[in-house]
Amino acid sequence: MGLFEKFSATATAYEGLKEATGRDPFGVSMDEMKGPTRALVDGKEIVLAGTNNYLGLTYDQAAVDAAKDAVAASGTGTTGSRFANGTYAGHRALEKELAEFLGYEHCMVFSTGYQANLGAISALVQPPDDVILIDADCHACIYDGCQLSGAETVRFRHNDPESLDKRLSRLGPEVKGKLVCFEGMYSMFGDVAPVKELVEVAHKHGAYALLDEAHSFGVFGDNGRGVCERDAVLDQVDFYTGTFSKSLASIGGFVASNHPELEYLRFSSRPYMFTASPSPANVAAASAALARLKNDHSMRENLWENAHRVYSAFQQLGYDLAAPESPVIAVKLKNREEAFMAWNFLMEHGVYVNLAIPPGTPNATSILRLSVSAAHTADDLDVVVGAYTALSEHLSASAA
Ligand code: PMP
Repeated sequence: MGLFEKFSATATAYEGLKEATGRDPFGVSMDEMKGPTRALVDGKEIVLAGTNNYLGLTYDQAAVDAAKDAVAASGTGTTGSRFANGTYAGHRALEKELAEFLGYEHCMVFSTGYQANLGAISALVQPPDDVILIDADCHACIYDGCQLSGAETVRFRHNDPESLDKRLSRLGPEVKGKLVCFEGMYSMFGDVAPVKELVEVAHKHGAYALLDEAHSFGVFGDNGRGVCERDAVLDQVDFYTGTFSKSLASIGGFVASNHPELEYLRFSSRPYMFTASPSPANVAAASAALARLKNDHSMRENLWENAHRVYSAFQQLGYDLAAPESPVIAVKLKNREEAFMAWNFLMEHGVYVNLAIPPGTPNATSILRLSVSAAHTADDLDVVVGAYTALSEHLSASAA
């Protein structure tokens, strides 16, 4: 009996997949970046179509300049947590900018989006008095936040307000605080939550709503404020969490709220207090990207146009698509082996997408997950659609 026995099944499956093609789908090295949508991998230029770079701002001149200036002015790292010496003027300014953009009174910036969810949930909810209700398909960081809190956690069916209603109805009067956690757009399938209904059900039962708009910030709503803006319930969400690692093209995360008590999380949230704060460059880049997002709606328009082009091409090719049209386009494959083969086929045809296989996917589905960017050019999308066309022919030929 040893520590490592539990890895043997994973190791066999993983090594088998790698051996079959000579590639490691979970360890692709972008040896040289060629811009927001291209990189050299093993000496070959690949179109990146699995990056979450929704607005394509990772090489935006304003963001790059802001990051460089921040390094020159404030150094490469803060060497301390927000709670100690790691709060700089830039962190405070970005909190204010995010709060103003979203229309909330309070905002806290964390070092990653992962920590924002971990830190908010674990500090807000405490056993034995409080209970968390969580959409079954929530991201790992929401699940980890529940675990760190130690509170009872009840799952409701994915995107199902009725299921939430039932679960909330069953809670007894001894439960003091109830926190309902869900997301705007889900990262794996790109499906969108009925945010308005979920918020309404939560409030009907006296519960608070925590909405993670990691993948929908910058993407949905007339101003890019997320699915809750689209559904006109932005002001009703109790805790809005987000990340800088997708539309804001940086690293970091945040929680925004109109509840003044959010400020006390600065003294009680372990993932906020016991880790170094985001670097000046990350903060400055996020702030510059936010300014671009506010002032230039054409990026969101390009994003949706690109999404439409790819989604309709895939529909015509007859792919089994996991959700209605959005910038995340997931193609379902028969099983892990077929998904891995298809992933490798696309790499050979110059396209990188995300391979997602159980247990990391909803309903144990094997998928190829593509995320469209506003920065994808017509040429990029030609390569993508061309590769998927060849793949579809290959799959039909192998099935025949
Ligand atoms: N929430 C969701 C829904 C996510 O998909 C992710 C990361 N993919 C995060 C939070 C964490 O974001 P970050 O990369 O900033 O840690």
